[in-house]
Amino acid sequence: MSKKYIIFKDDDVGNDTQSLKKWIDIIQEKNVKSAIGLIGRCMKDRELVDYLNSLDTDKIEIFCHGYYHKQLPYIIRKMKKSKELPKTEFNKDFVRHNRSLKKYRLAESKYLKTKAITFGPQGNIWNDNVIDAVIQNDFKLMFSWRKIKAEIFTIPLTENLKQSSFEEFLKDYKKNKNDEIFTLQFHHEKLTDKQFELMIEVIDFFKNKEKRTFIKPSELLELVHK
Ligand SMILES: [Zn+2]
Repeated sequence: MSKKYIIFKDDDVGNDTQSLKKWIDIIQEKNVKSAIGLIGRCMKDRELVDYLNSLDTDKIEIFCHGYYHKQLPYIIRKMKKSKELPKTEFNKDFVRHNRSLKKYRLAESKYLKTKAITFGPQGNIWNDNVIDAVIQNDFKLMFSWRKIKAEIFTIPLTENLKQSSFEEFLKDYKKNKNDEIFTLQFHHEKLTDKQFELMIEVIDFFKNKEKRTFIKPSELLELVHK
């Protein structure tokens, strides 16, 4: 790999379809590519499923963002600093994660036209138990802040779009400017109007100024196997 790449990662698909559509509209208007993380239980939402199945798979790739993604027990535990974890997929034990991913695969085969090859951990939190379940359920890539096992390809997470101005964004980007793969993470439901504007500015910057190629996870996998 000698070119420089950019991956746009958007989490929590299913929580706020209106904002998701706004986010995807920008991706489509700007003619770039992205990876969107679907929460499995949201596949019961017919409108969302129809919308996801209507998207151009050359541009937009769905990845698995767990089945339940119920963060509340996890947050409570953190607040109380108790050692005992409530029984959710945040428990990070193999059995629960495996069950969650199996449920995801089942819903996916029932409702979606495509099969995800990438997993993006809920809250970007994982341990070896999670990885074992991810591999067992036939995922090939995973988003992570740090290197994973050899059996699965790590897509490095670089930055979160939390900035409110382009100058701020540029300041943060400079730290990782030389990275071959730069992954920018979004949460569409949390974006302000100003940040949607910033998103457009950032796309233009990566396309025209930085000359980075927008890429989907599956294309990244093809590149590393070449
Ligand atoms: Zn999430």
